[in-house]
Amino acid sequence: MPAYDLVFFDCDSTLSSIEGIDELASRAGVDVSELTNAAMDGRLPMEDVYRKRLEMINPTPKDFEWLSRLYILTAIKDAKSVIAKLHACKVDVHIISGGLLPSILAFAHHLGIAPERVHAVPYDCDNPEPSYVHPLANNGGKPAVAESVGEKLGVPRERRLLIGDGVSDLEASSVVGQFVGFGGIIERDAVKSAATQYIADPLLEPLLDMVLQ
Ligand SMILES: [Mg+2]
Repeated sequence: MPAYDLVFFDCDSTLSSIEGIDELASRAGVDVSELTNAAMDGRLPMEDVYRKRLEMINPTPKDFEWLSRLYILTAIKDAKSVIAKLHACKVDVHIISGGLLPSILAFAHHLGIAPERVHAVPYDCDNPEPSYVHPLANNGGKPAVAESVGEKLGVPRERRLLIGDGVSDLEASSVVGQFVGFGGIIERDAVKSAATQYIADPLLEPLLDMVLQ
């Protein structure tokens, strides 16, 4: 029997080596990586950064298709096989991301994760305002979503695990039995020093030992 019944993955810099919004920005010819890093390191509130970045980028549906393909191309080498092994052991796998849902859905499909298990920020190119105030675009969004999914599925906190690279992931520690810091792509001091479990290499396979034991 696995040690956890419900595993939440962050997406950017955890399932894939990119930060999706940074990639959309560089495609649009603007550099927002300093804003993204400031938010993920906990130096700037996410809500300030979210609106600023997307107003600069002004993404189109074509950009989202392009980003979906890029997520797939830059997937962590063993992400798909690790997820398949978790599924084979009846572990429920979800993505909780502050990234943009239109791009993450196709990536999730590639990884074998059903759309109803993907929690990210919807984006309507004609009306982006609701995206900026979406819970996952703000600090505190990940714990709220992880708690609500866990409750809905009847999985108690101690049977949930969340893995991610950012401070927004670390915030969810209080609603899961185990938080795992992922430093395989970006090592963030605030996350590394607070995490009781930490993966330093760019592979997710060590997670299997923690979950399946
Ligand atoms: Mg991340």
